Amino acid sequence: MVSKRELFLNYLGQTSESPYLIEIEKADGIYMYSPEGEKYVDLISGVSVSSLGHNFKPVVDAAKAQMDKHLHLMVYGEFVQSPQVDLAKYLVNLLPKSLNSVYFVNSGSEAIEGAIKLAKRVTGRTKMIAFNNAYHGSSHGALSLCGNEDFKFAFRPLLPEVYQINLNEYSQLDEIDEQTACVVLETIQAEAGVQIPQKEYFKHLAQKCKEKGALLILDEIQTGFGRTGKMFGFQNYDIVPDIVCFAKAMGGGMPIGAFVAPKYIMDSFKTNPVLGHITTFGGHPVSAAASLAAIKYINESNLVELVVEKEMIFRQNLKHELISEIRGNGLLLAVEIGSFQNVLKLVKAGIEVGFITDWFIFHDSAFRIAPPLNISNEQIIEVCGLIIEALNRI
Ligand code: PLP
Repeated sequence: MVSKRELFLNYLGQTSESPYLIEIEKADGIYMYSPEGEKYVDLISGVSVSSLGHNFKPVVDAAKAQMDKHLHLMVYGEFVQSPQVDLAKYLVNLLPKSLNSVYFVNSGSEAIEGAIKLAKRVTGRTKMIAFNNAYHGSSHGALSLCGNEDFKFAFRPLLPEVYQINLNEYSQLDEIDEQTACVVLETIQAEAGVQIPQKEYFKHLAQKCKEKGALLILDEIQTGFGRTGKMFGFQNYDIVPDIVCFAKAMGGGMPIGAFVAPKYIMDSFKTNPVLGHITTFGGHPVSAAASLAAIKYINESNLVELVVEKEMIFRQNLKHELISEIRGNGLLLAVEIGSFQNVLKLVKAGIEVGFITDWFIFHDSAFRIAPPLNISNEQIIEVCGLIIEALNRI
């Protein structure tokens, strides 16, 4: 009989020469289970998605309840659909006052696409500034903003007038000028190996955008909804963006994204041309219902408050001669272990001892720790033991 793994390799479009090839049949909390009953701790949350763990009851219940009412009805922006309205209202109430209009999409890349189109439309400018080693998605617009030429080269030509600068280098902020439509950046550069902007630098950058009339677009796609120990990553810097992008954890495991802007800016999509940005499935009612349940739980429980304490427990329990640095904020951590070879061996040893980790797209000497935010303190101690055991095997 042909195995599921062979079928996977034959029939699914592949993204690398070496996929994990682990088969997962069910998942619950921080654990994922193979059909043979092997149990793995999920240390990466499907890359910053499953912040409430797997099969989180309030989210699953909300999705099921919506399924019993209706699935897709109409393309986005035409019918009044309660799950979208309720979610938008809740989200806006969590954000600074100026961010009061939500446009729903299906993914992070789409949120970025919508945000940069909006910035071009409203400023009438075309130049965009993004950052070296940034990751914003794989569609053409989002890819144009990514800061790694090896990753982009095969797909050129991409968007023109995108200029890449280095994070935390003040002098390069002079690139922001009167022709600049927007500056796009992550509140923590996740795929660059968890690089953190300096607070003063971020403030300076926001000020420069204001002076030059360029819109500041923040990518909160990995950092949003509690991962850094604040509801939103930008709250670590005391700044307010002009447009903010969400996806990943927003749906509690269901696909949904959004970009949020002041209403007077967002309204520019209504005219010249009409239907300036449209999507069939954006804000799918089942995803929107699941998302509201997830965000409500994150906001109304003490989950976010506890994230910093949980980060500390990881830091205290991860002592090993191969670990040279643990970088990050909250439960978005990069653990440096010297080389890509070590990371590859650790990923393999992790599977053997029972946890899943990975590396970063643009940084290969560190492995990722981004577990569900509701991992318990005891579970953290347990998985740190597994990590040390795996490090001893490499
Ligand atoms: N922005 C950041 C910071 C991301 O990490 C990602 C995905 O990893 C994206 C954007 C793109 O999101 P998606 O894969 O949902 O298109």
